[in-house]
Amino acid sequence: DSLERMEILAGLEERFGGRFPEDILPDLETVHDVVAAVEKYLGTEVRKRKASPAEIPSEHYRIEEFPECVRMKQNLGMLDLTGLRNPFFNPLESVATNTTRLGGREVINFASYNYLGMSGDPKVSAAVKEAVDRYGSSASASRLVGGEKIIHEELEQEIVDFLGTESSLCLYGGHATNETVIGHLFGPGDLILHDGLAHNSIVQGCILSGARRRPFPHNDWKAADDLLREYRHEYRRVLIAIEGVYSMDGDIPDLPRFVEVAKRHKALIMIDEAHSFGAIGATGRGIAEHFGNVSRGDVDIWMGTLSKSLGSGGGFIAGSAALIEYLKYTAPGFVFSAAMTPPAAAAALASLRLLRAEPQRVARLQKNAALFLELATERALNTGMSCGTPVIPIILGNSVQCLQLSDAMLKQGINVLPILHPAVEETAARLRFFITSHHTEHQIRHTVDVLANEFERIRSESLSPLAKR
Ligand code: PMP
Repeated sequence: DSLERMEILAGLEERFGGRFPEDILPDLETVHDVVAAVEKYLGTEVRKRKASPAEIPSEHYRIEEFPECVRMKQNLGMLDLTGLRNPFFNPLESVATNTTRLGGREVINFASYNYLGMSGDPKVSAAVKEAVDRYGSSASASRLVGGEKIIHEELEQEIVDFLGTESSLCLYGGHATNETVIGHLFGPGDLILHDGLAHNSIVQGCILSGARRRPFPHNDWKAADDLLREYRHEYRRVLIAIEGVYSMDGDIPDLPRFVEVAKRHKALIMIDEAHSFGAIGATGRGIAEHFGNVSRGDVDIWMGTLSKSLGSGGGFIAGSAALIEYLKYTAPGFVFSAAMTPPAAAAALASLRLLRAEPQRVARLQKNAALFLELATERALNTGMSCGTPVIPIILGNSVQCLQLSDAMLKQGINVLPILHPAVEETAARLRFFITSHHTEHQIRHTVDVLANEFERIRSESLSPLAKR
């Protein structure tokens, strides 16, 4: 189809450099046409003769010379050139909740998605210790063949009770969950439409599947609808993949609209609730509870991670009994992988029980997020599309200023990380704040004050270089 041709041309332009003329699209029918066009318009010889071993360039077999390695080094070099501290891989010396220890001192922390303070909670830690004593530190096998522990089933039952799905399955990694499940359920001849800002794990799952993949503009259910109207009939299965709360921007998609579009076109829908599970909806049941008018059965695949609100590590899939049974016996990342460790399962189970017993944690989280957003807005900071969820970006649109601001914040005892180009567009470079239920009102007010003042200082210094002297 024409979309696919455009994608091929864009890929060739990126690979070989140069541009094709706008009107070339209808002329490309065969691979031969494409090769001829590349040779004619991009000036590249595609049909290569066999190279002798002596002619194989070293960038094809020396890892440090791979172009992508060289590019990454250059990016790190630019970081060095700024003379600023590298903010990545900060080794923390304690639990990360509203505070943490870094470089030998306690700082206010906004760099961790321990949304409900479960990691480090004494009850959760006690459950982990008990699980280690009872089951050991490892499951020591795939669950299918010897690694199943009672605690895995208990955790899955607790998720089912909490969400109200027919069944659920836990896997050892959140990223791996998306990769293996999407990669396994879909294949060549299928189409996956995903949000333009979808998490890397969703994109990797699509690539692994071999299905055709089309991003649609962020949150634009109308664009998804248009694509399906035009192309649905050309494909076997179609999946719409979206998130409950977007991890860089903190906004929420219009789920009822997406559900309606998916149903109308007989497409499946999957929601990644990594940042919405435990965080939105009055009792933390995520985006379905947030909207109120979406029932569990309206979404085919509910996905969540255990590493955020549930203070552990891993991912889960919840949905119909048919879906879960099929994955349990066949999903490669589950079947051919050692089970989630017993302490990880215990942490998630204890956290979920605590979340159910103490919904006030969710209320506190939501109150804190709303307060941070309100104060940041009052100080005219750009919070993008964030809407009261615990992910709040402060968009500066300048990677160097982001580094400077992150550095200045740390000097003032506040840990918050920058998200820089090329992770986001330069105009979208930002600091990203993760709010937790444990932040105090004072910590939030103090942080926004420091943030606004430091940003103002950095901005004015960059406008008038003389002021630096
Ligand atoms: N989905 C989303 C939306 C995420 O933000 C993340 C990363 N935090 C993942 C999946 C992967 O989860 P995990 O880090 O637990 O592997």
